[in-house]
Amino acid sequence: MAPFIDCRSDTVTRPSEAMRRAMAAAAVGDDVLGDDPTVRRLEEQVAAMLGKEAGCFVPTGTMANACSLRILTRPGDEIICHRESHVYLYEAGGYAALCGCSIRLLDGARGQFAAGAIEPNVRWDDPHEPRTRVVAVENTHNRGGGSVWAIEALEQIGAEARRLGLCAHLDGARIWNAHVASGIALDRIAAPFDTVSCCFSKGLGAPAGSMVCASAELIARARRVRKLFGGAMRQSGILAAAALFALEHHLPRLAEDHEKARRLAKAISYAPGLQAVPPETNLVYFDLGPGLPAADVACRQLRERGVGLLPEGPRTLRAVCHLDVSTAETDQAGEIITAWAGSAARG
Ligand SMILES: *Cc1c(COP(=O)(O)O)cnc(C)c1O
Repeated sequence: MAPFIDCRSDTVTRPSEAMRRAMAAAAVGDDVLGDDPTVRRLEEQVAAMLGKEAGCFVPTGTMANACSLRILTRPGDEIICHRESHVYLYEAGGYAALCGCSIRLLDGARGQFAAGAIEPNVRWDDPHEPRTRVVAVENTHNRGGGSVWAIEALEQIGAEARRLGLCAHLDGARIWNAHVASGIALDRIAAPFDTVSCCFSKGLGAPAGSMVCASAELIARARRVRKLFGGAMRQSGILAAAALFALEHHLPRLAEDHEKARRLAKAISYAPGLQAVPPETNLVYFDLGPGLPAADVACRQLRERGVGLLPEGPRTLRAVCHLDVSTAETDQAGEIITAWAGSAARG
């Protein structure tokens, strides 16, 4: 049987036996009543890691971003973010549907923008215009190729937001990868932001769960919004236990995924007609040259040969390295992609 090397996303990871044992053994209670000791421990631990007063455990990263933006804004406000941000592209329009906000999009290489780009895009207290309220940043930036922001750039954006009287939100779904790749402490990466979201269900390998971290006052409001959005869970300590296990055992190993991504990008770049962006973390974006099929066809053909990828544009594919794809399998994926490109180009 052909292998199936699933590089579609780092969300495809399945809980290991050891993680499942930790989940099964978790002390639990009704978290809506504040009774789940494992959720409380996770919230305290992650808030401390990110240098914030408090945390609120939520089911998904999308809800973490939605809760954050909702507590920072009022209907009619405007959010500034990069054109290729997850909050703009992939969250079902939550900024509009759940927050009542409009969005102002900035350009920039690798999903990033300079602090100086904020002020010209701020709309003030003119009754004709929406009121700019939040600047949202994504680190690592998914569509930016898993790019890592320089800490100075984040600090400048935080300072500029404060100077302009705006709030700042960090979509830190992969803040763990940013931390491991850069060696910058998590609390320093989080410091410029009022609210920070993070995911346990991506490279950390937990089956579900994300968190918002912020001041105690903001988190009290986030808990109310979490209830409003239907995300207040009961014995969610079972999920929190998976996240605690992941922080202990899977956070340090993210460096291995980054190394696998570098190997894979190198292999892909030797293939005829393929050009990979040198990865900064665990995401490998690559373009299909003119002799090759379009991205959706390429994905289908590669899946038949045993490699799962996702199309990220008409001629762009994404391969993600994660804990359920070994170095040997990553190398094998590189060989399959290279062989496919050779035969597809001869076509
Ligand atoms: C995956 C992701 C999210 C949302 O997470 P879900 O748990 O899938 O809702 C948010 N932001 C970024 C950058 C992501 O990659």
